[in-house]
Amino acid sequence: MNAQRRPLIAGNWKMFHGGPGACDLAAQIAAGVEDLDHIDVVICPPFTALAAVAAELEGRKVQLGAQNLHPQASGAFTGEVSGPMLVECGARWVIVGHSERRHQYGEGDDLVAAKTKAALDVGLRPIICVGETLAERTGGQTLAVVQHQLEAVMPMLERSQGQAVVAYEPVWAIGTGHNATTAQAQEVHAMIRAQLRQLSSQLAERTRILYGGSVKPDNAAALLSCPDVDGALVGGASLDPHQFLAIARAAQPA
Ligand code: PEP
Repeated sequence: MNAQRRPLIAGNWKMFHGGPGACDLAAQIAAGVEDLDHIDVVICPPFTALAAVAAELEGRKVQLGAQNLHPQASGAFTGEVSGPMLVECGARWVIVGHSERRHQYGEGDDLVAAKTKAALDVGLRPIICVGETLAERTGGQTLAVVQHQLEAVMPMLERSQGQAVVAYEPVWAIGTGHNATTAQAQEVHAMIRAQLRQLSSQLAERTRILYGGSVKPDNAAALLSCPDVDGALVGGASLDPHQFLAIARAAQPA
């Protein structure tokens, strides 16, 4: 971490806790971060729980995010949810380009860019996920793949002036228990920051780059100690308040 950038810990609840249990989990997390300062904590429940969790978080330090949005503001798109709807529900953040959407729903770089733009258009702060598959890593293509995914959203990153966040999530590390080593994470994060520096050094210094992929209480401190790791996007461990809070505490500046 770097003292210039405020650490950010975001929890991606995926398709869990979409009902009444969401408020209970949110309340436990909110209570646990009351004494944490100088850190941003975001939770991203399913769409169905957003409005209720927004009410639960009223006046608390935890911020609300969604897991996806449609690139259009409204229209005949059965089953979809738009950026303005997320804002109405109280969300301030949204995850875009998660690998589960890229790989299970065929979302490509153009769609990820359109969603990022749609988020910024309504004042939602996007958490833009990038990352390579195991085959791409073993094939020595990691940096090229991530660079290419990032290329598509560079205009939006520039426009956001540090409001948008990048999350490096190696696909092989998500939900597997095999996190990237600190050296692997730092190498990619440094490359992402160098790519941002091509636009402007101020943008590169301001933009937070999260690591995601099997972050747990026992590996969080080491990953967060990397100079270009500014926080974490947490999946499985964000469903357990004790684990998620332990990760948040590991991000708390000394
Ligand atoms: C994720 O889904 O973004 C993620 C990082 O999951 P996990 O922490 O479970 O690997």
